[in-house]
Amino acid sequence: MNDIIKILQAADQAARWHKDQRRKGEAAEPYMNHLLDVAALVAEASEGDTTCIIAALMHDAVEDQDVTNEEIRAAYGAEVASIVAEVTDDKSKPKEMRKELQVRNAPHKSWGASLVKIADKTSNVRSIIETPPPHWPLARKQAYVNWAKDVVAGLPHKPEGLLAKFTATIEAAEAAFGM
Ligand code: ZN
Repeated sequence: MNDIIKILQAADQAARWHKDQRRKGEAAEPYMNHLLDVAALVAEASEGDTTCIIAALMHDAVEDQDVTNEEIRAAYGAEVASIVAEVTDDKSKPKEMRKELQVRNAPHKSWGASLVKIADKTSNVRSIIETPPPHWPLARKQAYVNWAKDVVAGLPHKPEGLLAKFTATIEAAEAAFGM
């Protein structure tokens, strides 16, 4: 099947899975905007790798929705499912532990998972600058930025263009949040 059709069908599926989810920021954008933002960054960094782009569209489905990794494997194949599994936190663990594990496990991530992670953190930090969650104090925004830097620093695969976008976003956040 044509790769563009596959990608658009995956985007349609992701939009359905996340239809009732909104971003935490004050603009409360549809969650799909985040998935498309991440997928566009990954598309550019991977030079249009269909597996990585579909994994980017699916990257929060298991963590945030009642979707299983097996469903993703059945519909999109083992490679997509494997990248999604690599970027899915174990929700049975407490939040602080999950954040610590992201830093600790970063050096073991595959190329595809590294791209999705850098793109995800770039998208999230941009959102915190542009439309922050209304109840977040400055210290929480600063902590998120530092944590995102720690995760990305540990990743083994950092394509130059994507890393430049992440770094520029971090610099903008540091300026905005007085860091
Ligand atoms: Zn995400």
